[in-house]
Amino acid sequence: MYNLKLCFLVLAILVPKLVPADDKFETVLYKYGYMQKPLGRDKDRAPTEKEMEEAIKKYQAFNGLEVTGVFDEETIKKMGSPRCGLPDYEPGQSRSDRKWLKNDLTWFIEKFSKTPIKKKQQKEAIKKGLARWAEVAKLNFKQGESDSDLKIQFGVKEHGDGFPFDDEGGTLAHAFYPESGKIHFDDSEDWQMDKHVGKNLEVVAAHEFGHTLGLPHSDVPESMMAPYYKGFMEGLHNDDIERIQKLYGPKEESKENIGFCDHKYTTINAAMWVGSSTYLFVDNLFVIDGSTGRKKKTKRIFPGAPNSVDAAIFSQDTQKALLFTDNQVWSYSLSGGKFYLNYGYPKTHSDEVFSKPDAAMIMKDFEHVERVFVFKNDSIREWVPYYEQLTPESTLKYHDFFIGVPNHLDAILSVNKEIAFLSGEKYFIMISDEQVVTITGTDMKALLRRCTKISEQPVLRPFYITLPCSRVIRS
Ligand SMILES: [Zn+2]
Ligand SMILES: [Zn+2]
Repeated sequence: MYNLKLCFLVLAILVPKLVPADDKFETVLYKYGYMQKPLGRDKDRAPTEKEMEEAIKKYQAFNGLEVTGVFDEETIKKMGSPRCGLPDYEPGQSRSDRKWLKNDLTWFIEKFSKTPIKKKQQKEAIKKGLARWAEVAKLNFKQGESDSDLKIQFGVKEHGDGFPFDDEGGTLAHAFYPESGKIHFDDSEDWQMDKHVGKNLEVVAAHEFGHTLGLPHSDVPESMMAPYYKGFMEGLHNDDIERIQKLYGPKEESKENIGFCDHKYTTINAAMWVGSSTYLFVDNLFVIDGSTGRKKKTKRIFPGAPNSVDAAIFSQDTQKALLFTDNQVWSYSLSGGKFYLNYGYPKTHSDEVFSKPDAAMIMKDFEHVERVFVFKNDSIREWVPYYEQLTPESTLKYHDFFIGVPNHLDAILSVNKEIAFLSGEKYFIMISDEQVVTITGTDMKALLRRCTKISEQPVLRPFYITLPCSRVIRS
């Protein structure tokens, strides 16, 4: 358990006069590992002049100062500057086993800051601090619950771990090496989201997460893992990138035809089949295109569209996509690989029940006519192209037409004769001819792999299906 070393981010209070007080600076040299206390009978012996000189030289070299071996003005100034309290030299520093044995980590804020920064912003700072590492190394971070890997707390003075914080200044935060996951921030500090005033929370978090992930301090003064607090810095330094990649490997580049299965996302909002590719609308913001494997903001693929799409279909016959969001419908035409918003859209419908639908599905009936159905709770409506409206409110329940479909739908993927109903982590397959779910509650991963395979060899076959809703008006 001794690898759970603590890191103190120390901000020395800037005193107006910088008077060299040798024992104070001696303490700095001991604290950060430049000198070792003698052991046994010798333990109270003061360091010799030679030992001091060597330690000062070591300190100056590590921190990018001119190596003079004496407490000169620059050295004293540096020693009084804000810094992290984790030693710069420590036994076991280069151990390669000081890392997490997994690449997917969850985080959770156990105690929020009482400073005026809103909780949402605090989370944002944590997310951004972590994202700096996830952008370059094979690491993924996801917000979790109280049993998360990384546990973040704001506290003052003694806060439960025997490493009390001080007042404003001095210690800013501390973190533990893997696989502890504890990160504590001193709530006496002037935490800010701003880049120019106070202590920037995102940057301090990014530094502390470096320790949490297994990185010791760096002797490259411009790096994120340098011991001294430099105010706001963008991204990471090459030194940080090299060192984190040594521990976890580089971030895998998004390759062509990676398939949407390899992307990380939390929520599936909608799904549709476009030509030979599956489009997955995820996390209220993105579309993953199965043919390129690229994840883009919804607006970039569908100009003028809202970020979040509740349900979507694509008609292979008309090469048009319909996106449903709230009580609006957006129609796009596909031409030359790009989607163009059709004239007169978005259209608003007044069907209260079908505001924010769960999913939409397209299939061919026995006359080979494409039919679009929209699902919400246990009800169903048909989109009528002729009227560009949903069928009027009625009591149609989808279980009357489709047997075995789950109650909570996230999205529906219609691939040829197979209709995949996506619900939570599971999917359900219905062959459109039968209108009965044949595959129930299978893990989503299997479906996503399968879809990639399908996207390589698109086979478009018409549906032959009889639906008991021929009374629905259609063009
Ligand atoms: Zn540190
Ligand atoms: Zn603590």
